[in-house]
Amino acid sequence: MTPNRQTVQLDWFINSRCDYTCSRCSPHSQEEGLRPDLTLDSCLEALRSFSEFAGHYSMDGIITFYPRQAPFIDPFVTVLKEANRLKQQGRLKSLHSANRGDLPGNKIRFFRENGIDTCRLTIDGPNEQIQDPMRRPGHFQDTLRAFREARDNHLHIEPLIIVVRHNAPHVTDTLRLLLDEGFDDIFIKVAVQTAGTLEQDNPWNQLLNETEYRSLHLQVSTFLDSLPPQFAPFRKKTLLRLTQPPSQPSFTLKPDGVLFRDLKQPKLGSFPGISFLRLAGIEQEIKHGTQK
Ligand code: SF4
Repeated sequence: MTPNRQTVQLDWFINSRCDYTCSRCSPHSQEEGLRPDLTLDSCLEALRSFSEFAGHYSMDGIITFYPRQAPFIDPFVTVLKEANRLKQQGRLKSLHSANRGDLPGNKIRFFRENGIDTCRLTIDGPNEQIQDPMRRPGHFQDTLRAFREARDNHLHIEPLIIVVRHNAPHVTDTLRLLLDEGFDDIFIKVAVQTAGTLEQDNPWNQLLNETEYRSLHLQVSTFLDSLPPQFAPFRKKTLLRLTQPPSQPSFTLKPDGVLFRDLKQPKLGSFPGISFLRLAGIEQEIKHGTQK
């Protein structure tokens, strides 16, 4: 690999439908007004377009898929296999996935066999008492089983702790559990993803205020400082991740084919019928004031 190549990262929310078993979501709130997902052919068009874009600019193309918890079916299955083929040909650099913690064993094996380099898995707490009320009964044990199965199948896991008021006092116990289980590539996100309509008494809707946020930082820093010297790299990495906002993807592709540079900005366009290269050309024209 050429050193110092730039990367171009696509976050791909490839299917819109979940199994809606977390307490924060209900099918009713989620399905309302959804546009149909892209067809397999259009997804493959988007994939090839992204790989072509990365190749054209000699960049390392990285894709993170966000497949929801519904069974893995097409288009995701065929798209991941094709993306893996492109990776093996050196036309994409790496493939990642972000999933809820209770990932079933067949999905872990599917990732392992189809080129997923890292899988980001959520974990909410150190035990059933904390985690299950945030998801569903049995969720914590299913999460622990998934983490162990992934580890034993040599699938690299990045645990993600999403912190709200309910689990904030238990973050260091969760960190300790993860370290004991052999996971040291941990992300802590102090924010709530707004997936669907949330009821006021739902724990996912209880955000930390400034004082609680500062107290969380102190709690985590004190815990990290208490670790023996061999954990110095983990300490540094985790502290940095806690204080720096995560890097933004270059592009975000939604299930219905709408493509964004920045989710706060208007869409760039929609698949099918657009291309990453053409859009980059338009961006350049706008930058240089040459667009008619
Ligand atoms: S929070 Fe995410 S994983 Fe859980 S039910 Fe809702 S969409 Fe699915």
